[in-house]
Amino acid sequence: MVTKDTSSLVTARNILTGLRSIMASPGNAQTKLNQVVETIAGAVGSEVCSIYLLREGVLELYATQGLKQEAVHVTKLAFGQGLIGYIAKNAESLNLAEAATHPDFQYRPETGEDKFHSFAGVPIIRNQQAVGVLCAQHIDPHKYAEEEIESFETAAMVLAELISNTGLIDEDSVDNPDSYNNGTDRLSGLQLVKGKASGFACFHQPRVKIEHTVAEDTEAERHRVYSAFDKMRSQIDHMTNQAEFGGGGEHEEVLQTYKMFAYDEGWSRRINEAIDSGLTAEAAIERVQQHTRMRMRQINDPLLADRMHDLEDLSNRLLRIVSGQMGTAATLGLRQDTILVARNLGPAELLEYDRRRLKGVVLEEGSLTAHVTIIARAMGIPILGQVKNVRQYVRENDYLLLNVDDNVLFPRPSASMQDAFEAQIELTNKKRAAYAELKDKEPVTKDGTRITLNINAGLRDDMKMLALTGADGIGLFRTEFQFLVAAALPSRSGQLRFYRDVLHAAGDKPVVFRTVDIGGDKPLPYFRASEVREDNPAMGWRALRIGLERDALMKVQARALIEAAAGRVLNVMFPMIAEPWEFDEAKAVFEKQLDYLHARGKQLPLRVRYGAMLEVPALAECLDLMASRLDFLSIGTNDLTQFLFAADRSNPKLAERFDWLSPAILRFIGRVSKQVDELGIDLSICGEMGGRPLEAMALLGLGIKRLSITPASIGPVKAMIRSLDLGTAQEQLQSILSDPPANPRATLEEWAISHEVELG
Ligand code: PEP
Ligand code: MG
Repeated sequence: MVTKDTSSLVTARNILTGLRSIMASPGNAQTKLNQVVETIAGAVGSEVCSIYLLREGVLELYATQGLKQEAVHVTKLAFGQGLIGYIAKNAESLNLAEAATHPDFQYRPETGEDKFHSFAGVPIIRNQQAVGVLCAQHIDPHKYAEEEIESFETAAMVLAELISNTGLIDEDSVDNPDSYNNGTDRLSGLQLVKGKASGFACFHQPRVKIEHTVAEDTEAERHRVYSAFDKMRSQIDHMTNQAEFGGGGEHEEVLQTYKMFAYDEGWSRRINEAIDSGLTAEAAIERVQQHTRMRMRQINDPLLADRMHDLEDLSNRLLRIVSGQMGTAATLGLRQDTILVARNLGPAELLEYDRRRLKGVVLEEGSLTAHVTIIARAMGIPILGQVKNVRQYVRENDYLLLNVDDNVLFPRPSASMQDAFEAQIELTNKKRAAYAELKDKEPVTKDGTRITLNINAGLRDDMKMLALTGADGIGLFRTEFQFLVAAALPSRSGQLRFYRDVLHAAGDKPVVFRTVDIGGDKPLPYFRASEVREDNPAMGWRALRIGLERDALMKVQARALIEAAAGRVLNVMFPMIAEPWEFDEAKAVFEKQLDYLHARGKQLPLRVRYGAMLEVPALAECLDLMASRLDFLSIGTNDLTQFLFAADRSNPKLAERFDWLSPAILRFIGRVSKQVDELGIDLSICGEMGGRPLEAMALLGLGIKRLSITPASIGPVKAMIRSLDLGTAQEQLQSILSDPPANPRATLEEWAISHEVELG
């Protein structure tokens, strides 16, 4: 191995120079591999140097210097078998003074390796997957220096390119699930949007393909990496600054860590050293990342594993910058049925994807009421959230079966699993078809109460769902979605056209337009809402709070809505009302616009109905004060839950902590329902809670008669309504409210089953 007086850098450079000329020389793959082991053994002064490559699922000795030549193409080890199998399976380097002391050691007599004591081996990795092993052996028992192992890793990196270029590994068909998922063939997560789908894995942030590993001009590579660092750091600074103006929230911590890593001198120094050894900028970044990955795996600390994701993200970002392979998978376009894999997604990012090809989404994070979830629900795209480390277990282009109904993802399924899955999908389709048949049936309970079933919408495309579901109207039109998908603040004429189209598509059915609810988890990149840094943007400068201050924003929207609804009834709803004066001020903006347009002889709406969302609990204490002001009230259970429980709706850690069927929520809604009934206010529910049959049943039992839900839920909820005896459900809810059982969900479920209520 490297002698004490020879620097590891020179060794690494010598190896790379040797490998470069081997790569450039003519000759077949086998000849080249033979030359490689000779070169490496010579450069590091090792008695043995061998290369094992993965072929048809086993690691085969392809070339050796120092072991018996008869063993070449004869010695084969399964993945996980022996030291070679261990290295490949765990994608981890080994450095042993005495190889036989390792529990996985296996002696192969045909190699004649019994006289060698020391052993060092590194995985050969291509596209984050071990495709072989490079190892050295030595007669004397001694442990190799860290720098020596790094030289091997550098050599393995170049070897990966060489064996890929010479066709020794077929990147598309290397089929080695064990190396990837460590024997796990199902990943579980949290159900965010129900449904089943199959398709090919596509990473939202695609991995960069490294084409060349050996540098032609080291100084040029150094310059490339320096300017990539500059660019990446300024991007991170920009993101952090933006977060300070309203984006914040859960991203904050991530950004701070990013910033710390982005400026980490140790990281940039290690990349620089890798460049010194003769690698290209891309290969140097990747080599350092591979090394860090291995180190982190050995440490086995969950907290560090979390940090690892940040480092991976950052390293990928640097790679994308340096290689110029920018953009998300959406900008590159989807070419096949796709299951999108991401750490997390924003609502606008999801909307960039081609809806015909996007079949499902798998997130490492994600929560039930985050807006990306709500949009996906509206689009009918299943999402499985909180799938830990999915980006390590799944590769780009892997075939995936996504069954969010059962909270599982199956990467690389067997043929029989695929058959069974298709049968399940067929069953689901039959169910869906049965729901579609309910389209023209009335949502009437068994004892004769007509429930109003509206849908939630926000995109032009959603309008067709009115006819497809047979819903009564749109109970919540989230106007901010138009703002989210735009590159700049939508103009008044743009808004007017959009609202006109929506009303036209709705025909006779009513549409409740909610004024923009931006901020919280819906920051607009082009609109700086607040000048101060927000620790809790969901409770900060959002929705009507922005609207009332930036009244130009609200005036423009009011004018567009009024003009769009000329000659018909306009329903306007204000979000995040906490006190009556906020409602009065918001209404005044509309009234002023009505006067203005009236004075100019414009045709006005027949009537403007004003409503408020009850999502800030404070409003519940002012209902009597609101009675004379309101035409209608709608409970937004998404925000209401987050404020009642003080639990951030987009924090994945809290996603499952509180139940919509807990006594606090049921009692709150029951009390409001009773009070508004006495006050004669029209009440509806428009949060996600109403779209689940069991929860919807509970809401009806609390006296709610109007629901506005995601279109996909109309069928299941209507089926529930038509199988429900409302009178007995109300009695059941009363008993739950007065004497809550330990698990109201289980009690309600049992009750529904015993009363033959359809829960989908
Ligand atoms: C809610 O908060 O329940 C709601 C319907 O509004 P959004 O989800 O858009 O905040
Ligand atoms: Mg809300």
